[in-house]
Amino acid sequence: MFKNRVWALLAMAIFVFTTGCKDESKSINTAANAKQAVETVIDSIIEPKVEQPVLKSLEDVADSTFVRLSDYSDGFAYDLRYATDNNFLKEQVYDCGECYTRAKTVKALLKANEEFNKHGVKIKFYDCYRPNSVQYKMWKIVPNPQYVANPVKGSIHNKGGAVDITLVTLEGEELNMPSDFDFFGKRAYHDNFDLPQDILDNRKLLKETMEKHGFWSTRTEWWHYNLQGASHDPIANFKWDCE
Ligand SMILES: [Zn+2]
Repeated sequence: MFKNRVWALLAMAIFVFTTGCKDESKSINTAANAKQAVETVIDSIIEPKVEQPVLKSLEDVADSTFVRLSDYSDGFAYDLRYATDNNFLKEQVYDCGECYTRAKTVKALLKANEEFNKHGVKIKFYDCYRPNSVQYKMWKIVPNPQYVANPVKGSIHNKGGAVDITLVTLEGEELNMPSDFDFFGKRAYHDNFDLPQDILDNRKLLKETMEKHGFWSTRTEWWHYNLQGASHDPIANFKWDCE
């Protein structure tokens, strides 16, 4: 709409200029008029204002508010599997991959990552907050509480307090871990020690650092961490924008 108006005015100015040139006596005058017309067009171009959402500092955000982690740090890596079909459901259940959690979870993640950085590594996310409607979608595909939390009860992912993570080097290279994400079996258990030493060390670094910063793990999934107290938060169905 805006561009069309500019083009129409420019076309008009060029028309005045070229028709004016046919008459030699008027050519200088008309050329000046055309130049004036073009200048008027340029003057009338007002840059449209783009509303930038004001990003509040984490200190000014209530702990329960949902925030996007990448708005507060670019020091994390992402492989949000449910936004692809590379997951145990073999189906994409998110329209797009974003890592949102409640603000208090983000605060704890920032501190944990700072500590991981001292070891030359950083957190890579497989999943963060998961809207309750997506939990229903997953339940429909795999209605088995062994693999998917019942959406009526909800998972801590639905409450904005759980993350599925691994570690990568600061250059993004994955550290060896016991299994792939969402591998259901003994290999993924924390009490399985039948693993090469480097894998045991990496899993230990992940667990100890996360626990130090307020997270707790579940016995059967080395990648899953819950923020202390988050199980008491309500299930949410906030959905992020995919624009
Ligand atoms: Zn999880």
